[in-house]
Amino acid sequence: MVTEQQVLTALRQVMDPDLHRDIVTLGFVKELQIRDGEVAFTLLLTTPACPVKDRLQQQAEEVVKAIPGVRRVQVEMKAEVRPTAPSPGLNLIPGVRNVIPVGSGKGGVGKSTVSANLAVALARTGARVGLMDADIYGPSIPTILGITEMPQPGGRGIRPVDAYGVKVISAGFFIRPDQAVIWRGPMLAKMVDQFLTGVEWGELDYLIVDLPPGTGDVQLTLCQRIPLTGAAIVSTPQDVALQVAEKALIMFRQLRCPILGLIENMSYYVCPHCGERDNIFDTGGAERAAERWQAPLLGKIPLATGIRQASDSGRPVVLEDPNSPSAAAFLEIARNLAAQVSIRNLKEAEEPAVRISF
Ligand code: ADP
Repeated sequence: MVTEQQVLTALRQVMDPDLHRDIVTLGFVKELQIRDGEVAFTLLLTTPACPVKDRLQQQAEEVVKAIPGVRRVQVEMKAEVRPTAPSPGLNLIPGVRNVIPVGSGKGGVGKSTVSANLAVALARTGARVGLMDADIYGPSIPTILGITEMPQPGGRGIRPVDAYGVKVISAGFFIRPDQAVIWRGPMLAKMVDQFLTGVEWGELDYLIVDLPPGTGDVQLTLCQRIPLTGAAIVSTPQDVALQVAEKALIMFRQLRCPILGLIENMSYYVCPHCGERDNIFDTGGAERAAERWQAPLLGKIPLATGIRQASDSGRPVVLEDPNSPSAAAFLEIARNLAAQVSIRNLKEAEEPAVRISF
């Protein structure tokens, strides 16, 4: 007779390489059933975008199959994204588990392109995703996601627009294209407040926030209003860009927002004709910066005509050309980002960080 104890002992051999714990300790094993040598259980992961999902499933099957008397193993994979812990004086948006700002030092490094592709990539893994375009000076998310409709009022606030399975609110919905934004701090803070509390976000696993470049009032307000899971920083590889990106990173850390990682955009160019790879903006800068910043390098995105064309046509490259190396790069970064969210939330559950509220 195969016992529950035997199965759990076997499953303790399976380690999550990101969370550095075994899957039993992590509480992943659910609904364990043993009947006549047939073992069935569910692995409840912390994200549907788990980068090692297949590996965990395969290893769990193997170790249980090796128990004498086991004839068949059935593993069902599910995921439940855990929320960031609320911190003193700061409450989560009800129903929204993780808020992830995407920042950059300079403008034009591809922050909006990255935010949109990551949001869509995460949604395609099965996660519930929102995208808040708070880039007040150049709100390009509606263009990148091909949104033509306006958000409508709902019962409890503005109803976000659905684009490819992502719930979207953009500053661009509320500013005429021919209007320049010349707002003082309190106006910007009001917009952020509206976007946080006046929008019917519903249940979300991840809310990605596309920030304006730099270290201004929007960033400050966001950090002061809600507990953020952590920021992703986008930069191009040149030293000058990375130096400015570092200022954004320092700001987030000063405001007690952890850094989930660095994303290098326009990393290298692959000639569409001969396939030769050219590091036009130098190479190795992101690795050096990530090491200096003690933050993970989440991945690198090539400089590719297809990325720009897809964005201009209103269908991000992860959907427009899903088998391209560019789409693969975005998907890998989305998985790595989701893993960092899980790591961060687990760490905080184990050793709650003291956060300062302003
Ligand atoms: P930011 O939000 O940092 O200002 P955008 O995302 O608006 O930058 O990108 C600026 C321009 O660069 C856009 O035209 C966009 O399509 C293009 N772009 C961004 N990333 C890439 C890339 N990896 N390859 C090719 N073009 C890109």
